[in-house]
Amino acid sequence: MNDLHQLTIGQAHQLLKEKRISSVELTKASLAHLAKVEDKVRACVTISEDTALKQAREADKAISSGKIKPLTGIPALIKDVMCTKSIRTTCSSKILENFIPPYDATVIEKLKAEKAVILGKTNMDEFAMGSSTENSAFFPTRNPWDLGRVPGGSSGGSTVAVATDEAIYALGSDTGGSIRQPAGFCSVVGLKPTYGRVSRFGLVAFASSLDQIGPVTKNVADSALVLNVIAGHDNRDSTSAPHPVPDFTKSLTPDLKNLRLGIPKEYFVEGMQKEVRVSMETAINKLEELGAKVDWDASLPLTKYALAVYYIIAPSEASANLARYDGVKYGFSYQDTNNMWEAMEKTKQFGFGAEVKRRIMLGTYALSAGYYDAYYLKAQKVRTLIRREFAQAFDKYDALVTPTSPTVPFKLGEKADDPIQMYLSDVCTLPINIAGLPAISVPAGFTDCLPIGMQIIGKPFDEETILRIAFAYEQATDWHQRKPPI
Ligand code: GLN
Repeated sequence: MNDLHQLTIGQAHQLLKEKRISSVELTKASLAHLAKVEDKVRACVTISEDTALKQAREADKAISSGKIKPLTGIPALIKDVMCTKSIRTTCSSKILENFIPPYDATVIEKLKAEKAVILGKTNMDEFAMGSSTENSAFFPTRNPWDLGRVPGGSSGGSTVAVATDEAIYALGSDTGGSIRQPAGFCSVVGLKPTYGRVSRFGLVAFASSLDQIGPVTKNVADSALVLNVIAGHDNRDSTSAPHPVPDFTKSLTPDLKNLRLGIPKEYFVEGMQKEVRVSMETAINKLEELGAKVDWDASLPLTKYALAVYYIIAPSEASANLARYDGVKYGFSYQDTNNMWEAMEKTKQFGFGAEVKRRIMLGTYALSAGYYDAYYLKAQKVRTLIRREFAQAFDKYDALVTPTSPTVPFKLGEKADDPIQMYLSDVCTLPINIAGLPAISVPAGFTDCLPIGMQIIGKPFDEETILRIAFAYEQATDWHQRKPPI
């Protein structure tokens, strides 16, 4: 048997069900391991040990009375952008440093209904704005494959926690790549479901037409298990979809016969690292061996506009969403003045970090009278065209395959002062959010011991097909079994 903290959800569930281990044992093992590695990687903002142990005891009680569900008793970490009742939720921002939500996000309620164990909250780029987790107001998280490098972002804390076995699985959020890009950088499985598949009630909003919550796991079967639990319509999120939720684990079959895969050439971008290209070619050949029909000449010419469209729409929505942090309702509040305007100004000045301010300014500019038509409206029109282009591609293909990121993890500090370079690390993931599609990143290779991820993109509400492809690929390779040297 593996050390307990190294188990997958599937393995842990089996052992819990057979009563060969208890949730308290498993939770203690995870917490003890977390305490050992956390100093090196710093994936967590808050560790809620007492609540976790209490939840574990309750899970054990449920199990002993025969009530066990797939996530019962299994320890998870949650990106600190999802509200957790009585556990502070900071978004890795000073402005929410001491914010303790009075309610749970829907996804947290759903985990609790399964009697899952929540170990704590993970570090992220402030308000999910970034690609390296260096924009956290508290500390950067480090990549366990090379502590001098970034884990990706903004869900870097969650992907590092899973890569290092601090937790059995984690939840992340993805607005333009924030689950998939760090999953690729840390060699774990990261799934962004279709827009609307998972309720965002209680997810602190960044860009509401793009945000989605998804699982970060050690393998594809676990991803399907977590999606089963968190997916579904929610009256409290008017954008959540009424679509029925299938049992995603049923789609996990090890062959790809008759599946048509498109490889859009625009995703093999200029400036892409040679080793990434080579790994992708090898990985796609493997998919062909497994029975898929691969078209290497697929094309999505509008891809080149996706980055610009994203960096108008996302900041515009962010500037509206972040207006609520005025120091009046909740969060940090500047008190050293009797002037209301000065109080609001200083609250934001001291509460927000540089990247968040940059986004608010970009968004406010794009939405202001005189610029609205030229920027925001134009971006929305191009967004429609990008969506249509994907829809047309899906007449021909069942899924599209691309690299998750054009490079392997970069060095800490390397792009911190160059926002454009940082934005470019999401060129392969942003278009998927613009079109609201589901996509998964799976481990697909290494170069110099640094991970490379492969992205599989599906039709709206067809997570089943991308999980199936990811599963077949995983069964045929062993990248996901490698552990970081920590
Ligand atoms: N890196 C992108 C950004 O900074 C995407 C972030 C995300 O998906 N939350 O906006």
